[in-house]
Amino acid sequence: MPGAATHDMITLVSGVVLTPVWWLISPDHLLRTALTVTLGHLISGLVFSCDLDVYSTEYQRWGPLRIIWWPYQHMIFHRSVLSHGLVIGPLLRLAYFGVVVYALAWLILGPLGHGDLVVRFRTDFEALMRDNSGQSWAFLWGFITGGAAHTIPDWLQTSAKRARREWKRL
Ligand SMILES: [Zn+2]
Repeated sequence: MPGAATHDMITLVSGVVLTPVWWLISPDHLLRTALTVTLGHLISGLVFSCDLDVYSTEYQRWGPLRIIWWPYQHMIFHRSVLSHGLVIGPLLRLAYFGVVVYALAWLILGPLGHGDLVVRFRTDFEALMRDNSGQSWAFLWGFITGGAAHTIPDWLQTSAKRARREWKRL
């Protein structure tokens, strides 16, 4: 599979291209929405990489916070459909991150008597998503394309390697 630097470059270039393309093809031609899609794409590809399912550069990039991804890495097989699937991969990582951060917030703030703050944050966050549903969907679309910008080059390289091996056998 391509290395982290190659994946980063593909994510950056496709993210830059995504802004004008999304702006052109979307019916309302809102630059704000196109930029939100690109933001989701970049965060997905650079921070929430498919390769968090293995001890990778992307995993180490999280520094001490990489502990969040330790269970994920040990539950999900490297390059399985759950991490590298086109839609399920990025969405599962986002859901996993939300659940783990919420649980950690409870574990830390709950015993200190600040559980109400965790609930307050969740309800405020849900209201923010609801009130800005267009931008939330745009972010999710970008999050999915950011995963695809990783998975598709992985697939292409695997196919190319297989074809080369078949060619040599002829
Ligand atoms: Zn990969």
